[in-house]
Amino acid sequence: MNDNRLILEYLLQTGMIKKTALLGKIEQSQKTGEAVLDLLIADGIISFDQLALIYQKEWGFEIFDPARHEINPAVVRNLPVEFIRSHDVFPFDEGPGHELWVLMSDPTDQKLITQIQQALNQNIRIFVGPKELIRNLVRKYYFTDQLATGDQMAKSLDIADELISEGVMRGASDIHIEPYQNTCRIRFRIDGVLYEKNMLSRERYKSLITKLKVLAGCDIGEHRLPQDGALQINFQGRRIDLRLSSMPTIHGEKIVLRILDQQQFFYRIDELGFSEKQKSQLAQMLQANHGMILVTGPTGSGKTTTLYSFLNALNTSRENFVTIEDPVEFQMEGINQIQVNEKSGLDFASGLRSVLRQDPNVIMVGEIRDENTAAMATRAAITGHLLFSSVHTTNTVSTITRLLDMKVPAYLLSSALRGVISQRLLNRLCPHCRQERLLTISEKERFAYDGLVYEAKGCSICHGTGYQGRVAIQEVLLVNRQVREAISAGKNYDDIRHVALKQGLLPFADSVLAQIQSGNIAFADGLAVIREEAEWHR
Ligand SMILES: [Zn+2]
Repeated sequence: MNDNRLILEYLLQTGMIKKTALLGKIEQSQKTGEAVLDLLIADGIISFDQLALIYQKEWGFEIFDPARHEINPAVVRNLPVEFIRSHDVFPFDEGPGHELWVLMSDPTDQKLITQIQQALNQNIRIFVGPKELIRNLVRKYYFTDQLATGDQMAKSLDIADELISEGVMRGASDIHIEPYQNTCRIRFRIDGVLYEKNMLSRERYKSLITKLKVLAGCDIGEHRLPQDGALQINFQGRRIDLRLSSMPTIHGEKIVLRILDQQQFFYRIDELGFSEKQKSQLAQMLQANHGMILVTGPTGSGKTTTLYSFLNALNTSRENFVTIEDPVEFQMEGINQIQVNEKSGLDFASGLRSVLRQDPNVIMVGEIRDENTAAMATRAAITGHLLFSSVHTTNTVSTITRLLDMKVPAYLLSSALRGVISQRLLNRLCPHCRQERLLTISEKERFAYDGLVYEAKGCSICHGTGYQGRVAIQEVLLVNRQVREAISAGKNYDDIRHVALKQGLLPFADSVLAQIQSGNIAFADGLAVIREEAEWHR
């Protein structure tokens, strides 16, 4: 019991409390161990404001005003934490002559003041504030916001860790840390869209980037040149790899963290959204032990994920798998992965040339983007190797014409190519808030469809975006005898496409329509990719 008699006697003598009420509270206090003053306040017999006024008038103590007084983090640790917690006192600032300003709820407690003075080697000045306020400040400055000296590093580790964990949890692919003149903006890229997370003070920004650069093995003294690095964190028992890149801007270094979450990256072919028919076509392509299988689509359409899933499906210890990538997105067990390094002369073509001398069975070339690589890849595919690669085009048939444009002879291409997969990634509608609507008359006519469609709205589950995850939509061209003959006969784009459609090619637009009808994607989004595709055919 910390009560001193002074204030209680004052309250009694001035008639502010009745003797019976006081005796009742004293009895209660002896049972529960709570202070009599606290019990009086809790029961509304007296308010803290009334008490504070008495302390001020009768004893001349100052009242702590949260709006006027500031907390000086440099002094909050001048008393041992255990002492602060057990006595509800809080050092909050320093006055002239090295005088420590201490907040107390009962400043007439002379015994406590003596203890504080003994613990410190400096003068103190007492300010009065309610116990609740003192306890909140103790919680804030000792147990959450450890801004006091010495904890700077621990704190910045917390920010870095928290930021990355939240990013992984929300399925972000990138975290952007962007400095401005007086603040710093944090954004997450989720399913291809950047969302603002929060703002940080310049101080927190500085400690955050220092910590991240240390973890990523960057030079923390270098602020004027771009840097790259890699780091790992543990998240729910699994390792998450991150790649860091820093770029000097006029207000400081902008950092982008790319989250390479294997769990998000490795899919089985089953999980990639292929229809049953497309899956059986893929199985036919993958059965062969030689030939070329290509994946196409714009940047960010998930080509690499699809290529990896093919390698994963075939990966057995018997065979020799080699990849040439730029960059190596993920390390795969049992596969020799080579990183392209243009500076030292190791490009896709030269890498492929060397790989072919090492008796590979299955080869993955990140991208075919020049004549040399195209020629080498085709040759590898007709000399007993199974070769996977990607080409940056808009659809399956234009991939064929692109390779012909890269001077691959039609007769070679026709015998090398087993199949082409064209792919797009679209945002998946949030099933909790998607909004259904009927098609207009002209839409019905255009799509020969009379059912419901859905549009994005936004709710708390999808963080107001209207979307959750993504949907892959593909067109699969299986190169069978008829298609092969059309290619080797030197047919043009339209003719090859005509043959492919006759051979059962399910057009991309039809796959999009199926996803619209099942409510997986928004009508507006589906319509946009169909239009994009149609532009190309025209
Ligand atoms: Zn939603």
